[in-house]
Amino acid sequence: MASIDKRSRKSWRARVRIPGHEDKTRSFNTRAEAQEWARITEAQLRSGVDTIPDAAAEPTLAQALDWYLEQETPKKKGKAGRPVSGILDKISQLCRDVKTKSRRYRCLGSKGGKNCKKSWAYPRNRLRILKHACHCPHLPANLRAEANNLRSDESPGAILEKLETSAWERTVASTQETNAHGTKRPRLDSSTMDNISNAQPPPLDILVGETGRKHLQAQLNLAIINLICAACLPPTLVDYAEWKKLFTIANTRYHPMSSTTLVDDHIPGQAARVRKMTIEYLKTQFDLTVSYDGATTK
Ligand SMILES: [Zn+2]
Repeated sequence: MASIDKRSRKSWRARVRIPGHEDKTRSFNTRAEAQEWARITEAQLRSGVDTIPDAAAEPTLAQALDWYLEQETPKKKGKAGRPVSGILDKISQLCRDVKTKSRRYRCLGSKGGKNCKKSWAYPRNRLRILKHACHCPHLPANLRAEANNLRSDESPGAILEKLETSAWERTVASTQETNAHGTKRPRLDSSTMDNISNAQPPPLDILVGETGRKHLQAQLNLAIINLICAACLPPTLVDYAEWKKLFTIANTRYHPMSSTTLVDDHIPGQAARVRKMTIEYLKTQFDLTVSYDGATTK
């Protein structure tokens, strides 16, 4: 059976419903076109032909955009325009504040019908969103893990390890010419640089160049985080002029971080790294006992 509905001044929708076949619908500009299509479609369906393309078979705008995002966007070089933020778009969404009408980003976490109420000012701060995503109970576990991995990879400890690995590889490359037995690479830890310096003088760029400055920055950042966390010192300590003076006197190449960077970036990043390393370590152990501390909230 065919029916024609008027959708708007210039849109007529024809619908054909025949038992045993999928419903066919299509929109036209005039009633006559809609009637003609419905007549032919009904006749073809009744005669057993079911190959007429219908509206549902054509991609919607949303489907076309999804396809473009999946197939075409990765081919773009991405040098111009808005940078692709990947995980941030999975965690946060642009919205408007109901009262002030100002633009904000809200957490996309929803679980058991309840939505996460967390939102951030526009433009979004990547570190704050990642910090929330590492713990948000409303986000799916895989997104939480992705956020934790990202934070861990960007933590001061990970940065230091990367710098030390490349410094070690350069040193090994320069010693291999003189050392016929080759050098067994030791386990990397904070004393690796000491071992390298004991073995032979460090490369010149470590001593005076940009690599050396980055290495010093990374080492001191990590040492400060460890001190502040271990001694339960307030992170605002690093904002004091007296604190900054300390580094001006000791070494002019170090730029002290702000307490915001410390609280929003370095400490949560390092915590994510410690969690990841703990899990990696536990994976190598046997006969583990899992216990649950019901008193803690996180
Ligand atoms: Zn959330």
